[in-house]
Amino acid sequence: MSKSSHSNSVMRNIPSVDELLRSKTVRTIAAETGHAHTIELAQRAIEAVRQDVGGNSEITWSKEKLLDVAGDRVAEAWRAERATRLQRVINCTGVVIHTNLGRAPLSRDAKQAIANEAAGYCTLEYDLETGRRGKRAPMCENLLAELTGAEAALVVNNCAAAAFFVLTVFAAGGEVVISRGELVEIGGDFRVPDVLAQSGATLREVGTTNRTKIDDYAEALSGGSRVILRVHPSNYRIVGFTATPTLIELAELAHSRGILLYEDIGSGALIDLSSCGLKDEPVVADSIAAGVDLVTFSGDKLLGGPQAGIIVGTRDLIDQLRRHPLYRALRVGKLIYSTLEATLASYRKGSESDVPVIAMLMLDKNAIRERAVAFISRLNSSYQGRLKIDLISGNSAVGGGAAPAVELETELMALSHPELSAEKLDNLLRNSEPSVISRIENDKVLLDLRTVALADEPKLLEILRSIH
Ligand SMILES: *Cc1c(COP(=O)(O)O)cnc(C)c1O
Repeated sequence: MSKSSHSNSVMRNIPSVDELLRSKTVRTIAAETGHAHTIELAQRAIEAVRQDVGGNSEITWSKEKLLDVAGDRVAEAWRAERATRLQRVINCTGVVIHTNLGRAPLSRDAKQAIANEAAGYCTLEYDLETGRRGKRAPMCENLLAELTGAEAALVVNNCAAAAFFVLTVFAAGGEVVISRGELVEIGGDFRVPDVLAQSGATLREVGTTNRTKIDDYAEALSGGSRVILRVHPSNYRIVGFTATPTLIELAELAHSRGILLYEDIGSGALIDLSSCGLKDEPVVADSIAAGVDLVTFSGDKLLGGPQAGIIVGTRDLIDQLRRHPLYRALRVGKLIYSTLEATLASYRKGSESDVPVIAMLMLDKNAIRERAVAFISRLNSSYQGRLKIDLISGNSAVGGGAAPAVELETELMALSHPELSAEKLDNLLRNSEPSVISRIENDKVLLDLRTVALADEPKLLEILRSIH
């Protein structure tokens, strides 16, 4: 038989879509993702096999082998697609507010609020007293005002949206005065000068990168000035010979010229976190008390709630924002209001340690060591494999652009294995179910229990046990 006729006979044996759909592997996939999508995956797999066979006359696979190869291709395509879905992970990096891993994990109350109150019909914009349309989620905004000492509050999609919104409404067509040292880029593509440009305001830089004085601001103000902007430099610190005016000085200056002082504080700590080692993280209430007219911050950084941009300030300014047509495009939905409200309720009760971000920041090295020691002894009690775990001292990070200079002392579990490199081990963990995210330092895979929920420890134990 000639090579081309041989290849033709192989081609004739390539399974049809129907045959492929009847195979066991593909039937399992259809049960997960549905018939229609599986047909598409099957068609693509068959086309790929056809190309392989047509392009290589050496291939002499039997009918059964062709069915297997096509089935494997469907399975691989589905596995790759499934890996891109949003799925839970066990965060062993020790980075508490990990932007790539979804920032703040929600509290138990917040999760229940979504499931029990917000997921179905709810009072998002409905007043139960009158039976008519009401304000949008008033309790959430009232709690924000109460906890920050502001007159009023408004919630939008994220802090970048909040900054853009405030500058658009109050500074478009005018000048925004800002210290040169605060023209920073904050992780995840938030650049102060770009947001300003989009808002239609003009930037007026004052001072130098390390030192700006109140007189620098005073001299820069002109008839076109509308807002003095203070930006918390978040993930960036200039140390050494530095100076910047206090918020009280800036508020006096702004108000004496009839303009606004607006502060983008970023992380938005609602309470003083110095006992957790976060010594110079600004507290929103202090800014309001100092006379700042509007403060914006994120819902999912130090506050520990869902992604949101929070604006607090005077009632008049907040009302102007609420009435502005842009608000309709930036507002949040019931899932955000319910989880944010539940998170804020924990702060009001004085049980902020119910908020996972706060609880994780409060853990000290000894508590983490105790957990790690117990974890390792549980593992060793029934483990036959060759994975070795040592305890070493190290640091966790706050993350999310907060407190860049702060390193939280922790106790790390360092993994080693006679036959698996650190990269291999890290990869193995990442591809487990659920995925375990670790970090590698000095050729060791490190696991930090600070960011692992107690409820996830048994699963983590099981995953480590399965490594031989
Ligand atoms: C993080 C941060 C932002 C961006 O906040 P998002 O909620 O991620 O949009 C803006 N400004 C400052 C100062 C920040 O720290």
